[in-house]
Amino acid sequence: MTRRTFIAGNWKMNLNLASATELAAGLRKATDGITNLDIAVCPTNVYIQPVAEILKGSNVGVGAQNAYFEPKGAFTGETSMEMLKDIGCKYVILGHSERRHILHESSEFINLKVHAALAAGLIPILCVGELLAERKAGTTDLVNRRQFEGSVSGVSSNDMKKIVIAYEPVWAIGTGEVATPEQAEEVHVVLRAIIAERYNKEVAESVRIQYGGSVKADNAKAILAKPNVDGALVGGASLKVEDFMGIIKGA
Ligand code: PEP
Repeated sequence: MTRRTFIAGNWKMNLNLASATELAAGLRKATDGITNLDIAVCPTNVYIQPVAEILKGSNVGVGAQNAYFEPKGAFTGETSMEMLKDIGCKYVILGHSERRHILHESSEFINLKVHAALAAGLIPILCVGELLAERKAGTTDLVNRRQFEGSVSGVSSNDMKKIVIAYEPVWAIGTGEVATPEQAEEVHVVLRAIIAERYNKEVAESVRIQYGGSVKADNAKAILAKPNVDGALVGGASLKVEDFMGIIKGA
């Protein structure tokens, strides 16, 4: 089974209208002709629409960094999956560690969002990953299993195939400390075995698992060369055309 490589940029709460649209225009130009892999950027909600306008018809898809699970109603400050779809989103990042640990989102809450995203026709990029203390305590696999299983509860085999998993060890996010290719591969193999156990081998072989955590142009190639690493979710290095293109070219 060949899984199509997927490189996504998480812009987090960065950039402004001018720099976000300039980055989108630069990426549109730089990715022209690159059709052998999937590429996406995830701006903050307010810049999704202008960025999506610029990237329309290009090789770069657009995703959101979060959304609420209810489709509409009295939920002040929230944005629904349907609204994101309406303005041109294809993907939505769910369960990012910053949302799990800073905004205290539980896997049960993320599970509601996973179902809502699938119902709205968005592709969830579902993040899981252990804290440094959890790795040191030897609970890496247990933590990732709990986060994964809790977040996909009730998801059918067909829907599971649409979901992209991002393994993001929290100790490697924004720290400059990247997991070794071997550490990434080891967890990806475990995650794929968990998917096979919960679903079946065919589903497990088709799900794409990205690695995320301080991926840069100079370390991407070795990580992406691992057989179970199907792409990358990139934070800091997705904010400049040259840096993000360095990773894309390494894929
Ligand atoms: C992320 O935000 O998903 C991430 C991996 O960040 P960074 O690449 O900056 O570590």
